Amino acid sequence: MHQTRDLGGLIFVELRDWTGVVQVVFNPAVDSRLHEQARELRSEFVVAVRGRVRRRAPENVNPRLATGEVEVVPEALELLNRSKTPPFYIAEGNEVDETLRLRYRYLDLRRPAMQANLRLRHRLLKAIRDFLDAEGFVEVETPDLTRSTPEGARDFLVPSRTNPGTFYALPQSPQLFKQLLMVGGVGRYYQIARCFRDEDLRADRQPEFTQIDLEMSFVEAEDVQDVTERMLAAAVEATVGERLALPLPRLTWAEAMDRYGSDKPDLRFGMAVADAGDLLAGLDFAPFRQALERGGTVRALAVPGAAGASRRQIDAWTELARKAGAAGLVWLGTGEELRGPLRERLERERVARLLERAGGRPGDLLLMVAGEPRQASLVLGRLRLQIAAELDLVPPGRFAAAWVTDFPLLEWNEEEGRWEAAHHPFTMPNPEDLERLESDPGSVRALSYDLVLNGYELGSGSIRIHRREVQQRLFRAIGIDEERARQRFGFLLEAFEYGAPPHGGVALGVDRIAMILAGAASLRDVIAFPKTARGADLMMGAPSEVDPGQLEELGIALRRPGPIVADHGA
Ligand code: ASP
Repeated sequence: MHQTRDLGGLIFVELRDWTGVVQVVFNPAVDSRLHEQARELRSEFVVAVRGRVRRRAPENVNPRLATGEVEVVPEALELLNRSKTPPFYIAEGNEVDETLRLRYRYLDLRRPAMQANLRLRHRLLKAIRDFLDAEGFVEVETPDLTRSTPEGARDFLVPSRTNPGTFYALPQSPQLFKQLLMVGGVGRYYQIARCFRDEDLRADRQPEFTQIDLEMSFVEAEDVQDVTERMLAAAVEATVGERLALPLPRLTWAEAMDRYGSDKPDLRFGMAVADAGDLLAGLDFAPFRQALERGGTVRALAVPGAAGASRRQIDAWTELARKAGAAGLVWLGTGEELRGPLRERLERERVARLLERAGGRPGDLLLMVAGEPRQASLVLGRLRLQIAAELDLVPPGRFAAAWVTDFPLLEWNEEEGRWEAAHHPFTMPNPEDLERLESDPGSVRALSYDLVLNGYELGSGSIRIHRREVQQRLFRAIGIDEERARQRFGFLLEAFEYGAPPHGGVALGVDRIAMILAGAASLRDVIAFPKTARGADLMMGAPSEVDPGQLEELGIALRRPGPIVADHGA
């Protein structure tokens, strides 16, 4: 029972199942006993109706229902099950408190929007499977009970009862298995893989999530990108009917950082950051002069048509720039009259060149940040996103994907005072930079790439190391000595000694892709049984305490007898 309207005489009942909704009309003049029975029906009752389908009178046609031109005249009604009054309306699209939705997920899933999301996710995965199958990929499952794979998060551990004192780790990704499948001659592998990362939960993360994970032998980065973007295009077309223009744009990490202040630029709109240091040299303006003298620069952003932005608005953006680490924000309205602190100092000619450089035109608002180049881009990149949202500059319903390539191989970990892998430690260094791995680790680029969509990172991949000595050099560079490398990754190093082919791959986040394609606000809306931001399953009540007997069997003693956090709020 979806909903019912009792008009005194007639009772209109909408029945819902997984195929949709249909109307049944109970008319006392036709069958008073059935009508009497129908009066007992309430929302979410489960019934079987037998009857005749007839065309509705023209004035009763409901264009909002797929079945709005017909209705059912019942001949028999059977009540199969009753329902308590549900804690929220299923039939209406109104906002419901998410804690309640998660607690009663099986009711939430009945709502048409959630049904649509689950079906979209199904079509997404089916399109991906069909595409990869046609491309010669083989779906192979890899274990969930395994040992740690370093993807940069904490592991979930599972104690082993049969080997007391030892633990499995749930995989952070199937990374090492898929590489070993390449050594195993599989050639083209994929898997819709569940990954587990025990991270401090940020707003839109799940401790377990799904990746479309793939790996290929005898390929270069370009080959992996080509298959992956065609796969994404097939998935987008199968789910929302849009066509992505291929090949996708590619920009290097350095370009992305300079032009968008982000390694996952939102390319649905322009407003790229430009370097204006040379155009502003010699200007009598202390903040710019000082930055340029110190080897810094001035970077600029043109906000379309915003020359007349209010002082309040500009002050708020200045505040944001400061919070993002800038000393200040210099603005210039380029309308008929120049506005802003530089208006007396800049000739029209120079303003025109600035606008041209920033891809703007007269009437735009130029925002400028002086300082260290990357830092200036970072600040303007933040403003770019904020302003685009505020001024509605993001075209709705658009999908803009791109590859970001050539990430740095290593990152300096300030806390631990050592280099660590920016992606994971199996990523191939760019051969052009390899000789600097020991002397200048920070300057080595990786053969890695990220796929970004609408400002989200969908996933990343790389060409992998397939030779033992290179892998060992990399371990050394990140402070894993030979002994530890043998202990932790001996199986991989050994495998590389038996003719491992060159290989590379990628993994994309299924939840995130589904979320973007469904236009959903949260990952939780495209996962049937998600966890809250605190990692709790509110329906099952997980995580939970366990029976002391179970702990005993595992040889585990708790230091604290009870749960430290009992609050499972969303
Ligand atoms: N295993 C990587 C990840 O989960 C993806 C890859 O390199 O294929 O991010």
